[in-house]
Amino acid sequence: MDDYQKIVSKVIQWYRANARDLPWRRSKNPYYIWLSEIMLQQTRVEAVKPYFERFIQACPNIEALACADEETLLKLWEGLGYYSRVRNLQKAATTVVQEYGGNLPPDYHALRKLKGIGPYTAGAVASIAFSLPYAAVDGNVLRVMSRLTADSRDITLASTKTAWEEDLVLMMPKGEEGTFTQAFMELGATVCLPNGMPKCQVCPIREECQAYRKDAVLQYPIKSPKKQRTKEYLSVFFLAEGKKIALCKRGEKGLLGGLWELPNCTQEQALPAALRDWGIVCGEIRDMKTQKHIFTHIEWHINCYFVHVKQNENKGFLWLDKETVEKEFALPSAFKKTWLEGCNILEE
Ligand code: SF4
Repeated sequence: MDDYQKIVSKVIQWYRANARDLPWRRSKNPYYIWLSEIMLQQTRVEAVKPYFERFIQACPNIEALACADEETLLKLWEGLGYYSRVRNLQKAATTVVQEYGGNLPPDYHALRKLKGIGPYTAGAVASIAFSLPYAAVDGNVLRVMSRLTADSRDITLASTKTAWEEDLVLMMPKGEEGTFTQAFMELGATVCLPNGMPKCQVCPIREECQAYRKDAVLQYPIKSPKKQRTKEYLSVFFLAEGKKIALCKRGEKGLLGGLWELPNCTQEQALPAALRDWGIVCGEIRDMKTQKHIFTHIEWHINCYFVHVKQNENKGFLWLDKETVEKEFALPSAFKKTWLEGCNILEE
């Protein structure tokens, strides 16, 4: 444990001197910490900064978030992806208003019960905002610990993560729980980088690092190979009737559930049949660029078409001009490039 105390104090000292100035670090507001941690899931820090600033301007506190209109929230989130995150934020905010008077509870187990808050986010909020001894173990922290101890356990296993959560709590210095959490996250995010790129030369714990001493940094962390993604093949349509463009809403369940999209069908379905089913008689059809979009477990391979609508008996779609869509509707990034290309064609 002595060794660990030395390591922890070096990492904390390093953090104090090198921490990046991030908008959510300028206060200990639990709402800011929660929001930033949710935004940072699957998204880079630099990309999150402007989203964070805009979001807290529009929803400066949890009560405002609970009362916000869903379309407004989706628009604020547009480009961050994984829209269920913002929907869960709002559900959790409603619970916080109803049960805790609009303030996040300073209790790990109560935080865990809120929609969208898993062990990592609860650990981050509990330790950073409330100085409680709970660990927040993400990929960055797992990588650092795995290299530091030359740990041969597979970091994709829940049991490895749980074991590190328990060990990190034991290493946390009393009164510095939040700094400890942020310091290890920061070391993983800026120095102990993934993919063969760690900056060991500037690492504060180089001397203690087992992987570095064994000259085996690139062998850690141990990770079992990812499962292959399922491939889906879609045809996506930019349907234009004059200046009006068709949007439709996805079903509530499943991938991108309840979000707006460009009309689409599987590539197994013949194009004329799909258009006929929607009540569309088309004029010119133009091929657009094919697209590929990668989700966590699925990848979409998309053929895209610009369709001049000649006759329109469609009942299910919204027909909107470009400005209204861009101002008021959040379109998932899987459709964004096709949207932009279609708008350019429309203006030719
Ligand atoms: S010495 Fe290198 S591998 Fe070890 S913790 Fe530091 S950056 Fe990571």
